[in-house]
Amino acid sequence: MMSQSMSRLCRILLVLAGLGMAAMAPAQPMPEVQALVAKEKAPMLDTMKALVEIESGSADREGLDRIAALIGQRLQALGGKVEYIEAGADIYKMFDTPDKPGKTVRAIFTGKGTRKILLLAHMDTVYPRGMLAQQPFKVDGERAYGLGIADDKQGVAMILHAIRVLNAMNFRDYGTLTVLINGDEEISSPGSRHLITKMGAEHDAVLSFEGGGGPTADQIRLATSGIGAATINVRGRGSHAGSAPERGVNALYELAHQVMQARDLSKPEVGTQVNWTLARAGVVRNMIPPGAQAQADIRVDIVADLDGIENTLRERIKNKLLPESEVTLEFERRRPPLQATEASRALGAHAAKIYTELGQKLIVRDRPTGGGTDAAFAALSQKSPVLEGFGLRGFGAHTTDAEYVLIGSIEPRMYLAVRMIMDIAQDKAK
Ligand SMILES: [Zn+2]
Repeated sequence: MMSQSMSRLCRILLVLAGLGMAAMAPAQPMPEVQALVAKEKAPMLDTMKALVEIESGSADREGLDRIAALIGQRLQALGGKVEYIEAGADIYKMFDTPDKPGKTVRAIFTGKGTRKILLLAHMDTVYPRGMLAQQPFKVDGERAYGLGIADDKQGVAMILHAIRVLNAMNFRDYGTLTVLINGDEEISSPGSRHLITKMGAEHDAVLSFEGGGGPTADQIRLATSGIGAATINVRGRGSHAGSAPERGVNALYELAHQVMQARDLSKPEVGTQVNWTLARAGVVRNMIPPGAQAQADIRVDIVADLDGIENTLRERIKNKLLPESEVTLEFERRRPPLQATEASRALGAHAAKIYTELGQKLIVRDRPTGGGTDAAFAALSQKSPVLEGFGLRGFGAHTTDAEYVLIGSIEPRMYLAVRMIMDIAQDKAK
Protein backbone atom coordinates (compact mmCIF):
# COMPACT_ATOMS: atom_id res chain seq x y z
CA MET A 1 0.00 0.00 0.00
CA MET A 2 1.29 3.40 -0.95
CA SER A 3 1.51 6.25 1.48
CA GLN A 4 -0.57 9.30 0.66
CA SER A 5 2.48 11.42 -0.22
CA MET A 6 3.77 8.59 -2.39
CA SER A 7 0.53 8.42 -4.37
CA ARG A 8 0.49 12.20 -4.78
CA LEU A 9 4.04 12.01 -6.13
CA CYS A 10 2.91 9.31 -8.58
CA ARG A 11 0.02 11.47 -9.77
CA ILE A 12 2.38 14.41 -10.33
CA LEU A 13 4.79 12.19 -12.22
CA LEU A 14 1.98 10.86 -14.41
CA VAL A 15 0.81 14.39 -15.22
CA LEU A 16 4.37 15.43 -16.06
CA ALA A 17 4.81 12.39 -18.29
CA GLY A 18 1.55 13.24 -20.04
CA LEU A 19 2.69 16.80 -20.65
CA GLY A 20 5.99 15.56 -21.99
CA MET A 21 4.23 13.22 -24.40
CA ALA A 22 1.92 15.99 -25.60
CA ALA A 23 4.91 18.18 -26.31
CA MET A 24 6.66 15.41 -28.18
CA ALA A 25 3.63 14.18 -30.13
CA PRO A 26 3.94 15.22 -33.76
CA ALA A 27 1.43 17.87 -34.87
CA GLN A 28 -1.28 16.30 -36.98
CA PRO A 29 -2.08 17.55 -40.48
CA MET A 30 -5.64 18.66 -41.25
CA PRO A 31 -6.87 15.75 -43.38
CA GLU A 32 -9.45 17.81 -45.27
CA VAL A 33 -6.85 20.38 -46.36
CA GLN A 34 -4.40 17.62 -47.23
CA ALA A 35 -6.93 15.81 -49.41
CA LEU A 36 -8.03 18.98 -51.22
CA VAL A 37 -4.44 20.06 -51.84
CA ALA A 38 -3.65 16.64 -53.34
CA LYS A 39 -6.62 17.09 -55.69
CA GLU A 40 -5.29 20.49 -56.82
CA LYS A 41 -1.85 19.19 -57.86
CA ALA A 42 -2.72 18.29 -61.47
CA PRO A 43 -4.95 21.37 -62.01
CA MET A 44 -2.17 23.62 -60.71
CA LEU A 45 0.21 22.14 -63.29
CA ASP A 46 -2.40 22.96 -65.96
CA THR A 47 -2.64 26.53 -64.67
CA MET A 48 1.14 26.97 -64.75
CA LYS A 49 1.15 25.67 -68.33
CA ALA A 50 -1.54 28.18 -69.34
CA LEU A 51 0.36 31.06 -67.66
CA VAL A 52 3.75 30.09 -69.14
CA GLU A 53 2.24 29.89 -72.63
CA ILE A 54 1.38 33.59 -72.57
CA GLU A 55 4.65 35.49 -72.96
CA SER A 56 4.58 38.46 -70.61
CA GLY A 57 7.91 40.27 -70.51
CA SER A 58 7.80 43.52 -68.55
CA ALA A 59 7.92 45.58 -71.77
CA ASP A 60 5.38 43.41 -73.63
CA ARG A 61 2.14 45.27 -73.00
CA GLU A 62 0.10 43.10 -75.37
CA GLY A 63 1.19 39.88 -73.65
CA LEU A 64 0.73 41.45 -70.22
CA ASP A 65 -2.83 42.46 -71.12
CA ARG A 66 -3.63 38.90 -72.19
CA ILE A 67 -2.23 37.29 -69.08
CA ALA A 68 -3.93 39.92 -66.86
CA ALA A 69 -7.25 39.07 -68.51
CA LEU A 70 -6.75 35.35 -67.85
CA ILE A 71 -5.79 35.91 -64.20
CA GLY A 72 -8.70 38.34 -63.73
CA GLN A 73 -11.19 35.83 -65.15
CA ARG A 74 -9.87 33.08 -62.90
CA LEU A 75 -10.08 35.27 -59.79
CA GLN A 76 -13.59 36.37 -60.72
CA ALA A 77 -14.67 32.75 -61.21
CA LEU A 78 -13.40 32.06 -57.67
CA GLY A 79 -15.68 34.79 -56.34
CA GLY A 80 -13.34 37.77 -56.16
CA LYS A 81 -14.32 41.32 -57.02
CA VAL A 82 -11.78 42.08 -59.73
CA GLU A 83 -10.30 45.41 -60.89
CA TYR A 84 -7.54 46.23 -63.36
CA ILE A 85 -5.42 49.12 -62.12
CA GLU A 86 -3.22 51.15 -64.48
CA ALA A 87 -0.12 53.01 -63.31
CA GLY A 88 -1.19 56.44 -62.10
CA ALA A 89 0.32 59.90 -61.93
CA ASP A 90 2.44 58.69 -59.00
CA ILE A 91 4.52 56.41 -61.27
CA TYR A 92 8.21 56.28 -60.21
CA LYS A 93 10.10 56.75 -63.48
CA MET A 94 13.46 55.03 -63.83
CA PHE A 95 15.75 54.77 -66.84
CA ASP A 96 14.08 51.55 -68.01
CA THR A 97 10.46 52.42 -67.19
CA PRO A 98 8.21 51.91 -70.24
CA ASP A 99 5.57 54.51 -71.13
CA LYS A 100 2.83 52.09 -70.16
CA PRO A 101 3.95 49.43 -67.67
CA GLY A 102 1.72 46.40 -67.19
CA LYS A 103 -1.41 46.96 -65.13
CA THR A 104 -2.13 45.33 -61.79
CA VAL A 105 -4.94 42.83 -61.20
CA ARG A 106 -6.61 43.23 -57.83
CA ALA A 107 -9.24 40.83 -56.50
CA ILE A 108 -11.03 41.21 -53.18
CA PHE A 109 -12.73 38.24 -51.50
CA THR A 110 -15.02 39.26 -48.67
CA GLY A 111 -15.53 36.90 -45.73
CA LYS A 112 -17.37 36.90 -42.39
CA GLY A 113 -14.37 37.61 -40.16
CA THR A 114 -12.32 40.69 -39.35
CA ARG A 115 -8.71 39.94 -40.33
CA LYS A 116 -7.40 41.38 -43.59
CA ILE A 117 -4.88 39.34 -45.54
CA LEU A 118 -2.95 40.40 -48.65
CA LEU A 119 -1.50 37.89 -51.14
CA LEU A 120 1.13 39.10 -53.65
CA ALA A 121 2.64 37.70 -56.86
CA HIS A 122 3.69 39.10 -60.22
CA MET A 123 2.82 38.12 -63.80
CA ASP A 124 5.66 39.77 -65.75
CA THR A 125 8.95 38.08 -66.64
CA VAL A 126 12.44 39.21 -67.64
CA TYR A 127 12.16 37.49 -71.03
CA PRO A 128 11.48 39.34 -74.29
CA ARG A 129 8.90 37.99 -76.76
CA GLY A 130 10.03 34.93 -78.70
CA MET A 131 11.97 33.14 -75.97
CA LEU A 132 9.13 30.77 -75.09
CA ALA A 133 10.12 28.57 -78.04
CA GLN A 134 13.42 27.78 -76.27
CA GLN A 135 11.75 27.11 -72.93
CA PRO A 136 8.28 25.69 -73.57
CA PHE A 137 6.26 24.17 -70.75
CA LYS A 138 7.22 20.56 -70.18
CA VAL A 139 7.13 18.06 -67.38
CA ASP A 140 10.23 15.93 -66.95
CA GLY A 141 10.15 13.64 -63.95
CA GLU A 142 9.96 15.74 -60.79
CA ARG A 143 10.41 19.02 -62.64
CA ALA A 144 8.02 21.29 -64.53
CA TYR A 145 9.95 23.54 -66.91
CA GLY A 146 8.80 26.73 -68.58
CA LEU A 147 9.60 30.38 -69.29
CA GLY A 148 9.02 32.35 -66.10
CA ILE A 149 7.55 29.31 -64.32
CA ALA A 150 9.64 29.80 -61.16
CA ASP A 151 9.65 33.60 -61.28
CA ASP A 152 6.78 34.00 -60.79
CA LYS A 153 4.03 32.19 -62.65
CA GLN A 154 4.01 29.46 -60.03
CA GLY A 155 3.20 32.18 -57.48
CA VAL A 156 0.14 33.31 -59.45
CA ALA A 157 -0.98 29.68 -59.84
CA MET A 158 -0.39 28.96 -56.15
CA ILE A 159 -2.65 31.82 -55.07
CA LEU A 160 -5.43 30.72 -57.47
CA HIS A 161 -5.37 27.11 -56.24
CA ALA A 162 -5.00 27.93 -52.55
CA ILE A 163 -8.19 30.01 -52.84
CA ARG A 164 -9.87 27.09 -54.62
CA VAL A 165 -9.04 24.89 -51.62
CA LEU A 166 -10.44 27.51 -49.19
CA ASN A 167 -13.60 27.77 -51.29
CA ALA A 168 -14.00 23.99 -51.39
CA MET A 169 -14.07 24.01 -47.57
CA ASN A 170 -16.39 27.00 -47.64
CA PHE A 171 -13.81 28.78 -45.50
CA ARG A 172 -14.82 32.45 -45.09
CA ASP A 173 -13.35 33.34 -41.70
CA TYR A 174 -11.22 36.19 -43.05
CA GLY A 175 -12.52 39.75 -43.23
CA THR A 176 -11.02 40.34 -46.64
CA LEU A 177 -8.60 38.30 -48.67
CA THR A 178 -6.99 40.61 -51.23
CA VAL A 179 -4.96 39.34 -54.19
CA LEU A 180 -2.59 41.74 -55.95
CA ILE A 181 -0.84 40.55 -59.13
CA ASN A 182 1.34 43.21 -60.77
CA GLY A 183 2.89 43.30 -64.22
CA ASP A 184 6.00 45.40 -63.58
CA GLU A 185 7.95 43.62 -60.82
CA GLU A 186 10.98 42.75 -62.94
CA ILE A 187 11.52 46.44 -63.73
CA SER A 188 11.29 47.38 -60.04
CA SER A 189 7.52 48.05 -59.98
CA PRO A 190 7.45 51.67 -61.20
CA GLY A 191 3.66 51.72 -61.62
CA SER A 192 2.57 49.42 -58.79
CA ARG A 193 4.97 50.25 -55.94
CA HIS A 194 2.80 52.92 -54.33
CA LEU A 195 -0.32 50.74 -54.61
CA ILE A 196 1.52 47.81 -52.98
CA THR A 197 2.72 50.05 -50.13
CA LYS A 198 -0.78 51.46 -49.62
CA MET A 199 -2.40 48.01 -49.71
CA GLY A 200 0.29 46.62 -47.39
CA ALA A 201 -0.55 49.27 -44.81
CA GLU A 202 -4.25 48.36 -44.95
CA HIS A 203 -3.73 44.66 -44.15
CA ASP A 204 -2.99 42.64 -41.01
CA ALA A 205 -0.59 40.28 -42.76
CA VAL A 206 1.04 40.02 -46.18
CA LEU A 207 2.12 36.77 -47.81
CA SER A 208 4.19 37.10 -50.98
CA PHE A 209 4.51 34.20 -53.39
CA GLU A 210 7.94 34.39 -54.95
CA GLY A 211 9.79 31.07 -55.03
CA GLY A 212 10.19 29.12 -51.81
CA GLY A 213 13.82 28.11 -52.18
CA GLY A 214 15.81 25.82 -54.44
CA PRO A 215 16.31 22.07 -54.75
CA THR A 216 18.13 21.91 -51.42
CA ALA A 217 16.37 24.65 -49.40
CA ASP A 218 12.72 24.61 -48.37
CA GLN A 219 12.32 28.15 -47.06
CA ILE A 220 10.45 31.39 -46.56
CA ARG A 221 12.10 34.78 -46.11
CA LEU A 222 11.59 37.58 -43.60
CA ALA A 223 14.21 39.82 -45.22
CA THR A 224 15.20 40.75 -48.75
CA SER A 225 17.80 43.14 -50.10
CA GLY A 226 17.18 46.74 -51.03
CA ILE A 227 18.42 47.64 -54.48
CA GLY A 228 19.64 50.96 -55.82
CA ALA A 229 21.34 52.17 -58.98
CA ALA A 230 23.76 55.08 -59.11
CA THR A 231 24.76 56.66 -62.41
CA ILE A 232 27.60 59.16 -62.71
CA ASN A 233 27.38 61.33 -65.84
CA VAL A 234 30.41 63.35 -66.95
CA ARG A 235 30.24 66.11 -69.53
CA GLY A 236 33.58 67.15 -70.96
CA ARG A 237 34.44 68.78 -74.27
CA GLY A 238 35.21 67.03 -77.54
CA SER A 239 38.24 67.99 -79.58
CA HIS A 240 40.54 66.49 -82.23
CA ALA A 241 42.69 63.94 -80.46
CA GLY A 242 45.54 64.43 -82.90
CA SER A 243 45.70 68.15 -83.67
CA ALA A 244 44.08 69.85 -80.64
CA PRO A 245 43.77 67.58 -77.62
CA GLU A 246 44.47 70.53 -75.28
CA ARG A 247 41.19 72.17 -76.34
CA GLY A 248 39.20 69.19 -75.09
CA VAL A 249 38.09 68.17 -71.59
CA ASN A 250 38.54 64.41 -71.38
CA ALA A 251 35.33 63.01 -69.88
CA LEU A 252 36.86 59.53 -69.67
CA TYR A 253 39.70 60.76 -67.41
CA GLU A 254 37.19 62.46 -65.15
CA LEU A 255 34.96 59.37 -65.06
CA ALA A 256 37.91 57.14 -64.18
CA HIS A 257 38.75 59.51 -61.30
CA GLN A 258 35.13 59.51 -60.10
CA VAL A 259 34.80 55.72 -60.17
CA MET A 260 38.11 55.22 -58.39
CA GLN A 261 37.16 57.58 -55.58
CA ALA A 262 33.80 55.84 -55.13
CA ARG A 263 35.08 52.27 -55.09
CA ASP A 264 35.20 51.83 -51.31
CA LEU A 265 31.51 52.23 -50.38
CA SER A 266 30.75 48.55 -49.71
CA LYS A 267 30.35 47.52 -46.09
CA PRO A 268 29.73 43.76 -46.22
CA GLU A 269 29.49 43.56 -42.41
CA VAL A 270 26.22 45.54 -42.52
CA GLY A 271 25.01 44.12 -45.83
CA THR A 272 25.91 47.11 -48.01
CA GLN A 273 27.41 46.53 -51.44
CA VAL A 274 28.30 49.17 -54.02
CA ASN A 275 29.83 47.80 -57.22
CA TRP A 276 30.57 49.78 -60.39
CA THR A 277 29.39 47.51 -63.17
CA LEU A 278 28.78 49.51 -66.37
CA ALA A 279 30.73 52.24 -68.13
CA ARG A 280 30.91 53.87 -71.52
CA ALA A 281 32.68 56.88 -72.93
CA GLY A 282 33.57 58.66 -76.12
CA VAL A 283 32.40 58.74 -79.70
CA VAL A 284 35.33 57.72 -81.92
CA ARG A 285 38.99 56.88 -81.34
CA ASN A 286 40.39 60.15 -82.63
CA MET A 287 38.19 62.50 -80.56
CA ILE A 288 38.79 63.55 -76.95
CA PRO A 289 35.66 62.03 -75.34
CA PRO A 290 33.02 64.69 -74.69
CA GLY A 291 30.89 62.44 -72.47
CA ALA A 292 31.19 59.42 -70.17
CA GLN A 293 28.90 57.48 -67.88
CA ALA A 294 29.25 54.73 -65.26
CA GLN A 295 26.65 52.83 -63.28
CA ALA A 296 26.85 51.05 -59.94
CA ASP A 297 24.67 48.28 -58.55
CA ILE A 298 23.79 48.90 -54.90
CA ARG A 299 22.44 46.42 -52.32
CA VAL A 300 21.44 47.27 -48.75
CA ASP A 301 19.83 45.46 -45.82
CA ILE A 302 18.48 48.61 -44.14
CA VAL A 303 16.29 51.32 -45.74
CA ALA A 304 18.38 54.22 -44.36
CA ASP A 305 21.58 52.89 -45.96
CA LEU A 306 20.34 53.95 -49.42
CA ASP A 307 20.16 57.55 -48.16
CA GLY A 308 23.64 57.26 -46.65
CA ILE A 309 25.17 56.01 -49.90
CA GLU A 310 23.44 58.70 -51.95
CA ASN A 311 24.66 61.46 -49.63
CA THR A 312 28.24 60.16 -49.69
CA LEU A 313 28.23 59.99 -53.48
CA ARG A 314 26.81 63.52 -53.80
CA GLU A 315 29.66 64.78 -51.59
CA ARG A 316 32.37 62.81 -53.39
CA ILE A 317 31.52 63.92 -56.93
CA LYS A 318 32.33 67.50 -55.94
CA ASN A 319 35.98 66.47 -55.90
CA LYS A 320 36.96 66.62 -59.58
CA LEU A 321 40.12 65.81 -61.50
CA LEU A 322 39.27 68.22 -64.34
CA PRO A 323 37.63 71.41 -63.01
CA GLU A 324 36.09 72.19 -66.39
CA SER A 325 34.15 68.94 -66.54
CA GLU A 326 30.58 68.70 -65.32
CA VAL A 327 29.74 65.74 -63.07
CA THR A 328 26.18 64.79 -62.10
CA LEU A 329 24.67 61.90 -60.18
CA GLU A 330 21.39 60.08 -60.75
CA PHE A 331 20.32 57.89 -57.88
CA GLU A 332 17.46 55.42 -58.32
CA ARG A 333 15.71 53.63 -55.49
CA ARG A 334 14.91 50.45 -57.37
CA ARG A 335 13.52 48.64 -54.35
CA PRO A 336 13.73 49.02 -50.57
CA PRO A 337 14.94 46.14 -48.39
CA LEU A 338 12.50 44.00 -46.40
CA GLN A 339 13.62 43.90 -42.78
CA ALA A 340 12.64 41.21 -40.30
CA THR A 341 10.44 42.46 -37.43
CA GLU A 342 9.18 40.92 -34.23
CA ALA A 343 5.79 40.38 -35.88
CA SER A 344 7.24 38.74 -38.99
CA ARG A 345 9.49 36.50 -36.89
CA ALA A 346 6.45 35.33 -34.93
CA LEU A 347 4.43 34.64 -38.07
CA GLY A 348 7.45 32.91 -39.65
CA ALA A 349 7.73 30.65 -36.62
CA HIS A 350 4.04 29.83 -37.02
CA ALA A 351 4.65 28.85 -40.66
CA ALA A 352 7.45 26.53 -39.53
CA LYS A 353 5.05 24.99 -36.99
CA ILE A 354 2.44 24.36 -39.69
CA TYR A 355 5.10 22.62 -41.78
CA THR A 356 5.76 20.20 -38.94
CA GLU A 357 2.15 19.02 -39.35
CA LEU A 358 3.47 17.45 -42.56
CA GLY A 359 6.57 16.16 -40.80
CA GLN A 360 8.69 18.61 -42.81
CA LYS A 361 11.14 21.31 -41.84
CA LEU A 362 10.76 24.86 -43.10
CA ILE A 363 13.78 27.18 -43.04
CA VAL A 364 12.84 30.73 -41.99
CA ARG A 365 15.54 33.09 -43.27
CA ASP A 366 15.84 36.44 -41.52
CA ARG A 367 18.93 37.71 -43.37
CA PRO A 368 18.72 38.85 -47.01
CA THR A 369 20.71 37.02 -49.67
CA GLY A 370 21.02 39.73 -52.35
CA GLY A 371 17.67 39.50 -54.11
CA GLY A 372 14.90 42.11 -53.84
CA THR A 373 11.13 41.66 -54.15
CA ASP A 374 7.83 43.53 -53.90
CA ALA A 375 7.29 42.27 -50.36
CA ALA A 376 9.51 45.18 -49.30
CA PHE A 377 7.11 47.74 -50.78
CA ALA A 378 4.27 46.11 -48.86
CA ALA A 379 6.23 46.53 -45.62
CA LEU A 380 7.36 50.13 -46.17
CA SER A 381 4.72 51.88 -44.10
CA GLN A 382 3.26 49.26 -41.82
CA LYS A 383 4.08 47.24 -38.74
CA SER A 384 2.10 44.12 -39.70
CA PRO A 385 4.10 41.08 -40.72
CA VAL A 386 5.21 40.70 -44.34
CA LEU A 387 6.59 37.30 -45.35
CA GLU A 388 8.18 36.34 -48.68
CA GLY A 389 8.70 33.03 -50.45
CA PHE A 390 5.38 31.18 -50.18
CA GLY A 391 5.72 29.88 -53.73
CA LEU A 392 7.06 26.57 -55.01
CA ARG A 393 10.65 25.52 -54.78
CA GLY A 394 12.42 25.83 -58.09
CA PHE A 395 15.51 26.91 -59.91
CA GLY A 396 16.85 28.96 -62.80
CA ALA A 397 15.00 32.27 -62.57
CA HIS A 398 16.33 34.76 -65.16
CA THR A 399 18.10 32.07 -67.23
CA THR A 400 17.72 31.05 -70.85
CA ASP A 401 17.40 27.30 -70.65
CA ALA A 402 16.66 25.81 -67.29
CA GLU A 403 13.87 27.47 -65.32
CA TYR A 404 11.83 24.88 -63.44
CA VAL A 405 9.74 24.20 -60.36
CA LEU A 406 9.76 21.04 -58.25
CA ILE A 407 6.45 19.24 -58.67
CA GLY A 408 6.90 17.55 -55.30
CA SER A 409 6.72 20.94 -53.61
CA ILE A 410 3.16 21.68 -54.84
CA GLU A 411 1.36 19.78 -52.07
CA PRO A 412 3.38 20.88 -49.02
CA ARG A 413 3.57 24.47 -50.22
CA MET A 414 -0.15 24.71 -50.99
CA TYR A 415 -0.93 23.11 -47.63
CA LEU A 416 1.27 25.75 -45.98
CA ALA A 417 -0.39 28.64 -47.85
CA VAL A 418 -3.93 27.43 -47.08
CA ARG A 419 -3.19 26.76 -43.41
CA MET A 420 -1.48 30.15 -43.00
CA ILE A 421 -4.51 31.95 -44.42
CA MET A 422 -6.81 29.93 -42.14
CA ASP A 423 -4.78 30.57 -39.00
CA ILE A 424 -4.27 34.28 -39.69
CA ALA A 425 -8.00 34.64 -40.43
CA GLN A 426 -8.90 32.90 -37.16
CA ASP A 427 -6.26 34.84 -35.23
CA LYS A 428 -4.41 31.64 -34.33
CA ALA A 429 -1.11 32.68 -35.88
CA LYS A 430 0.96 34.66 -33.45
ZN1 LIG B 1 9.90 37.51 -59.12
